[in-house]
Amino acid sequence: MDSTNKHIALISVHGDPAIEIGKEEAGGQNVYVRHVGEALAQLGWHVDMFTRKASTEDPVIVEHGPHCRTIRLKGGPEAFVPRDNIFGYAGEFLEELLKFQEQEGIHYSLVHTNYWISSWVGMQWKKRQSIPQVHTYHSLGAVKYKSIEAIPRIANTRLEVEKTVLETAERIVATSPQEQEHMRSLVSSKGNIDIIPCGTDIRRFGAINCLEARQQLGLSPDDKIVFYVGRFDKRKGIETLVRAVGRSQLRGNANLKLVIGGGSRPGESDGMERDRIEGIVAELGMTDFTIFPGRISDELLPAYYTAADICVVPSHYEPFGLVAIEAMACGTPVVASDVGGLQFTVVSEETGLLAPPKDEVAFAEAIDRILSNPDWRNQLSQGARNRVEEKFSWDGVAYQLSELYTQLIQKPAKVLAQASA
Ligand code: UDP
Repeated sequence: MDSTNKHIALISVHGDPAIEIGKEEAGGQNVYVRHVGEALAQLGWHVDMFTRKASTEDPVIVEHGPHCRTIRLKGGPEAFVPRDNIFGYAGEFLEELLKFQEQEGIHYSLVHTNYWISSWVGMQWKKRQSIPQVHTYHSLGAVKYKSIEAIPRIANTRLEVEKTVLETAERIVATSPQEQEHMRSLVSSKGNIDIIPCGTDIRRFGAINCLEARQQLGLSPDDKIVFYVGRFDKRKGIETLVRAVGRSQLRGNANLKLVIGGGSRPGESDGMERDRIEGIVAELGMTDFTIFPGRISDELLPAYYTAADICVVPSHYEPFGLVAIEAMACGTPVVASDVGGLQFTVVSEETGLLAPPKDEVAFAEAIDRILSNPDWRNQLSQGARNRVEEKFSWDGVAYQLSELYTQLIQKPAKVLAQASA
């Protein structure tokens, strides 16, 4: 059996695959679902990606290409709702999904759910119809709640749902061996887990060279550029990066530039962390060499990564961390926290350096080591690109997912065949 004409549903209740990335809570999950969906459609699957309609202005259906579309269903108010408050609307979302399926007369062969809220929708769907479920967590409550002080009210429900899906889904996709280890040690010893990493577009990232990129962005060839991009969230550790650059040996060198990309417009939901970071930059006297370009569009992102001497991912925790592989695909060495998926993507001393999270002294040392040795930086650059080509292209990732889906869809037939033999 091949994938041709088979309909599959990807569910991402709170992470809209068709939305602008980098603002509010839009990040890696949105990127993952969108790219996996598009790549699977190219392999012959008919892909419907279901998400919650979070704005009256957004169209209900977005066609991304042949046989790949985002479908926005009602689930609570058509407005931004923080993800901890979305679960209450998951029941309504499920009913809308089943209604859509019936109206369109589609039979979905498999559902791939993303994040715990969607996993619940998938599990309820399975109670009504026989459909194999694949699940990707993107973030584990059991890990997250260890690192934050204010545990939300939804925590117990989330932990329970995360345990049930691990034990009952036909397959869990862990994006790194570290994530798999956390599932086993913190969630349950039961259930089937495969490791299939996140990917990146190795044609788009890495298509231009550093000089071209700097020209495009109006940056000088002599600049020493330290780059961050991502959501403004305390757990992203941007403060560690700022303090590290503040104590760098290169401080005072007129070429040093710190570029901190991402974030919403002023007044939107991540504004508080952005204000806090800008406050630290000012307090440390770094305003004149720190740039906040705001959200970086898809078109400019490859140029920013390529223009940078180093990309820093200082997260307190990261289940995978797409930014690291995007930078590496552009041949930019990564200095990252020695945690989670970053231990899988970044090979210390080969593609960049790992440093203990929240340790600004260690981050400063790592940044200085790379910036002060251009030859070694170039070796790391080559190592970074090679690693991404080998392990993290979307095409390779989608191929592995496609094989997994095919195997799971075939399973009931096999079981029946064995039973009647
Ligand atoms: N991103 C972007 N523009 C921005 C900020 C972020 O395109 O201004 C993208 C970034 O390229 C990456 C994703 O958002 O693909 C962030 O994913 P990651 O896994 O690093 O972190 P998450 O947001 O999931 O915690």
